Amino acid sequence: MSVNLEDDIAAIATAPGEAGLAVVRVSGPGAIALADRVFHGAAPLAEAAGHTLHHGWAASPGVRDRLLDEVVAAVFRAPRSFTREDVVELSCHGGALPARQVLDALLAAGARLAGPGEFTLRAFLHGRLDLAQAEAVADLIHAETRAASDLALSQLRGALSERLHAFADRVGDCVAEVEARVDFAEDVGGVEVPPHVIAAARALAADLAAFVGAGAWARAVREGVHVPIVGRPNAGKSTLFNRLLGEERAIVSATPGTTRDRVSEALELGGVRVTLSDTAGLRGTADEVEAEGVERTRHAIEASALVVWVHDAARIADAEDARIAASLAGRRVVLALNKCDAPLADPARAAASLASLPGAAGAPALALSARTGEGLGALADRLARELGAGEGGSLAGAVANARHAEALLRAVAALDRAAAAGEAGAPGEIVALELRESLGAIEEVTGRRVSDELLDRIFGRFCIGK
Ligand code: GDP
Repeated sequence: MSVNLEDDIAAIATAPGEAGLAVVRVSGPGAIALADRVFHGAAPLAEAAGHTLHHGWAASPGVRDRLLDEVVAAVFRAPRSFTREDVVELSCHGGALPARQVLDALLAAGARLAGPGEFTLRAFLHGRLDLAQAEAVADLIHAETRAASDLALSQLRGALSERLHAFADRVGDCVAEVEARVDFAEDVGGVEVPPHVIAAARALAADLAAFVGAGAWARAVREGVHVPIVGRPNAGKSTLFNRLLGEERAIVSATPGTTRDRVSEALELGGVRVTLSDTAGLRGTADEVEAEGVERTRHAIEASALVVWVHDAARIADAEDARIAASLAGRRVVLALNKCDAPLADPARAAASLASLPGAAGAPALALSARTGEGLGALADRLARELGAGEGGSLAGAVANARHAEALLRAVAALDRAAAAGEAGAPGEIVALELRESLGAIEEVTGRRVSDELLDRIFGRFCIGK
């Protein structure tokens, strides 16, 4: 990303479509002068104080007699704005045309169309937000559950950054001590790393690893999880899928598919966005189309944290079920013993026969009826619990982002190497190198040290206008 902070950027900040209002924003050193070429009110915006609102009309530069819309201009003067630059936000009427025409007028007046996330990028580059906070802005925009929104807000307010600064300070103390000994080796009698610094590096590695580990639930809240519904044909998977979506709050509309294909839909369970997928029956098949569906089912199982296995409660397990169990080995499975309304249903007997199969051993089993709805609430509660709902207390400050977790685990590995090198009697320079690498990895999260390529990747996720 060729970062340019000298020019003025403009974009529509609100979603497209019909609405009461739309906001066009412009930011940069010349934002106010530029807005004055488009905005016509009682007085020029150049004379306006920061944090003030002004009623007026928008027109293209040099074409004052053809008004585009009636607008309200909000003036923010640097550094008291989102980007820390001069910013003008023009609120116009919603709908397809007004905001588009006002934006075109600003571009004609000399603004450049902002790239995705460029306003937030400027806020980061000007030091208003650190990188973790800037990413929280995108998370907040993308949040689909209340828990995900709360999590993003806590990160935006700096809860994660605070925890990471504390870790970085502790690593920094170790670096300072080791490097001081290297610099003054003669005075302190050698460059060996003292045991208390090695112990500190070990403790830091353990604390940081535990901190990342505790964020697993936060990552599920932020990213959502996939839960395939598997089982033999006719076990009642589609019925259960539809029923669960009917009872719980569905988030997005159904993806069309045939009964042989996966059909996915997202709903909220315990604050997590759960994408349920109805899968093709798991069994060996000669039919090519069905084979394709079965292959996708296997794929869905591999990518998922939790699987619901639907089994007809009237049947005891046979060789086919043993094959299904084997394909689920190592996964977390919840057994749904379906059709318990049917006269021949015997959930206890079915559960006992399945419990002896290796892949299903120990899986919680629930008797239910997808047809009548009996036991569905218990299943939803069980799924939320299996996903970790309510574990780990507050989500504030947790490591919710896979990029962050990956960088912090690199920091843990470098701390471990530093401690091992110190224990092996390696010279202080080597230990300091590893400690610095760990510090660098932590600072990648907060953005104190970050490459342009990473910034591109992060801000590319944003929408234009944010
Ligand atoms: P799938 O092939 O696993 O997706 O199974 P379906 O959902 O298509 O259901 C197969 C048959 O079982 C249909 O006739 C359903 O009406 C029936 N069925 C599904 N759930 C229940 C249930 O809870 N009780 C009873 N009695 N029948 C059910």
